[in-house]
Amino acid sequence: MSTCLGFAAHEAHGALTPIRFERRALRADDVAIDIAYCGVCHSDAHQVHNDWNNTVYPCVPGHEIVGHVTAVGSSVSRFRIGDRVAVGCLVDSCQQCTPCAEHQEQLCSHGPTPTYNGKDRVSGENTLGGYSDHIVVREAFVLRLPERLDPRFAAPLLCAGITVWNPMRRYGVGKGSKVAVVGLGGLGHMAVKLAVALGAEVTVITTSPGKADDARALGANHVLLSNDQQAMLAATNAFEFILDTIPSRHNVNPYLMLLGRDGVMVLVGAIEPLEPIHGGLLMRNNRTLAGSIIGGVQPTQELLDFCAEHQVLPSCEMIGIQDINTAFSRLQTSDVKYRFVIDMTTLRYVTLE
Ligand code: NAP
Ligand code: ZN
Repeated sequence: MSTCLGFAAHEAHGALTPIRFERRALRADDVAIDIAYCGVCHSDAHQVHNDWNNTVYPCVPGHEIVGHVTAVGSSVSRFRIGDRVAVGCLVDSCQQCTPCAEHQEQLCSHGPTPTYNGKDRVSGENTLGGYSDHIVVREAFVLRLPERLDPRFAAPLLCAGITVWNPMRRYGVGKGSKVAVVGLGGLGHMAVKLAVALGAEVTVITTSPGKADDARALGANHVLLSNDQQAMLAATNAFEFILDTIPSRHNVNPYLMLLGRDGVMVLVGAIEPLEPIHGGLLMRNNRTLAGSIIGGVQPTQELLDFCAEHQVLPSCEMIGIQDINTAFSRLQTSDVKYRFVIDMTTLRYVTLE
């Protein structure tokens, strides 16, 4: 066992505060990782606020983890002390079922183990995430950080990146694809950068007029304000692929209208009931409305390698751990440019009462 310092929520509406807890002793196939950076996902806020009615407290969030190896179990073969590594949203799965065999561990038939707020498959204990100084993870769920990827900018790829990459690959986004990204936050900005890197023509659909210049700087060709009814009407049938990252209940019909023939809209944001969908809108143009959830270990490694090769780097606002509660508040008002990343060395300055 090792003593770990982190930040935890203790109730749905309280602040995150420092906590000391124990990490398990290394199992044979475990890797111990000192955490250098951890991204702040909107899902962390949802989980802390118990938006999904399943939060176990204390809750230590964080599933965009970058660091280096400090110890390995006796059967670990792929990593050595000192290696630069990363961990995403999953730390275990059954490794037996068809989805696991097909590198889709996030769809494990027996339920994958999330990096936090999950149940460890051996001990049954609640998993605790990356807002902490170190973590112990099964080797099969540890990713290699490529040489050419600056660790300061890698963390958001582990959730925001793979969540948008997976559906873009599945639905064949590529050169000349007409893509719209709804919501320019953590996921949305990665979708813009990755779609541009794949050669797509990208439109950002936003509620924030102030983000238009940023959207273009990120590589978007066009910007649409979702409350500009004229502009939305003019974009009817305009897109082949729409990625909807809105984090709460909303009306998808105004976006569905924008899909052209055989167009696909993928929901990755709101994990809750939506406002009613108009069947006729779906049928017209043979439109498809789909969902997608994070991604498996191997596809995440492929994404890290792609981003290293093409130097696709998330836009990070670096914060100290003491700023985490302000960062959570800013997420609620769409005030993020475009992913908060916690510099975990700032835990050094934290004192426990
Ligand atoms: P984020 O950084 O807060 O960005 C969300 C963006 O959506 C905001 O910046 C804003 O962009 C827009 N938005 C916010 N509220 C809106 C509203 N009421 N109506 C219209 N647009 C709104 O969040 P994120 O980290 O990208 O996460 C987005 C969602 O994806 C969260 O719900 C998160 O839990 C979920 N998620 C899902 C998966 C998955 O596997 N499916 C993985 C990770 C996260 P504009 O200012 O441009 O309008
Ligand atoms: Zn996430």
